[in-house]
Amino acid sequence: MISKLLRAIIMGPPGSGKGTISTRIVKDFGQKHLSSGDMLRSQIANKTAAGLAAKSYIDQGQLVPDDIMVELILSELKGLRSESWLLDGFPRTLPQAKALHAEEPVEMVLNLDIPFPVIIDRIKGRWTHLASGRIYHTEFNPPKKAGLDDITGEPLVQRDDDREEVVRKRLEIYQSRTQPVLDFYRKLGVLQEFQGKYSNEIWPRVHKFIATKTTPLQYTEYK
Ligand code: AMP
Repeated sequence: MISKLLRAIIMGPPGSGKGTISTRIVKDFGQKHLSSGDMLRSQIANKTAAGLAAKSYIDQGQLVPDDIMVELILSELKGLRSESWLLDGFPRTLPQAKALHAEEPVEMVLNLDIPFPVIIDRIKGRWTHLASGRIYHTEFNPPKKAGLDDITGEPLVQRDDDREEVVRKRLEIYQSRTQPVLDFYRKLGVLQEFQGKYSNEIWPRVHKFIATKTTPLQYTEYK
């Protein structure tokens, strides 16, 4: 039986291509994309109480406390009772997952299980032109002249959070905080894992799986 409403979560470590896959899902299936990071940034921009409370944690690279996150996300979801949505970035801890489950149980949790060495290789080869935000990759998308931006000729830099030791640390934190969340959904029988190295390789499998639960608007192929 194919249901119309689909409440789903996408999970995956930083650098797993979660943003790319999320964008593709909502394009082909039409759910509302709810990114907790984007919601927090908009709360901060609007200087709401939640935004003010969350800002110092975000600035220090820490997780925002569960009570603030749960209140923020659940109040948003209450307004979406008759809509399909894809949650991205929430839940990140077990208490968040339990609070969500008590109010709005989800039908599917997609986990992008990308090997950490692949993520580290991908991120550590990334070089940025700071002024424009253009991103290059020494292997996948090299600049015409090594170390220089194609358009301005200015030097490229490696962002602090793209350095190997920083990436490793972020992955370790992700693993310790979210493993219990994955176990929680695995026990509930709603977790679907996708292994692979590249978004284009994983995408057709993700599409096929979601299409067993809800009718797609379309299928977009990426090569
Ligand atoms: P993101 O854009 O998903 O990387 O989120 C940016 C920042 O927002 C994170 O580094 C956290 O400080 C905070 N954040 C986003 N989602 C959550 C969450 N579910 N729980 C706690 N903090 C969060």
